[in-house]
Amino acid sequence: MSKRNMRIAIYPGSFDPVTLGHLDIIRRASGLFDRLIVAVMHNQNKKPMFSVEERMEMLRRTTAGLPNVEIESFGGLLADYARRKNACVLVKGLRAVSDFEYEFQMALANRKLNADLDTVFLMTSSEYMYLSSSVVKDIAVHGGSVAGFVPDEIVQDIVCRTRKED
Ligand code: ADP
Repeated sequence: MSKRNMRIAIYPGSFDPVTLGHLDIIRRASGLFDRLIVAVMHNQNKKPMFSVEERMEMLRRTTAGLPNVEIESFGGLLADYARRKNACVLVKGLRAVSDFEYEFQMALANRKLNADLDTVFLMTSSEYMYLSSSVVKDIAVHGGSVAGFVPDEIVQDIVCRTRKED
């Protein structure tokens, strides 16, 4: 397939850290598009648990078996970033109705900023409905086990980081 005809999608987020819910969306989206760029946002959250570089490295480790998935970082407007990457789709995961209103607004705004960009929503798998990076961080900070919430490859990174913060 020529590069011009490739369906390139971007899955943006904070991924602080990547959870099994994120990984499920990545796996499913990587099967739907020719290339999937997982884009780690330089976000305004002043106290992330992991730096953007650390989050990217953990994502690389957990998606190593998915050849059409790339990990990048970005700041600024998603609509501009998508244009630079020749991406035609933004992938978002939906967990609950509470995710919907904000995502709906963002999808319309991004479409207005970049008419070639559509947002595709993938429903969470039911076993990950409750799962978010903040839930993982809360559990870890309070000494609970995050095994079963995040990919096995990064459990130790979270344990080490929370120990340091004791
Ligand atoms: P969070 O801290 O809520 O995990 P992110 O910004 O890292 O937030 O999430 C990136 C994207 O992944 C968003 O589109 C979000 O809706 C989606 N997502 C996060 N967790 C899940 C999950 N458990 N199931 C489906 N989608 C999810």
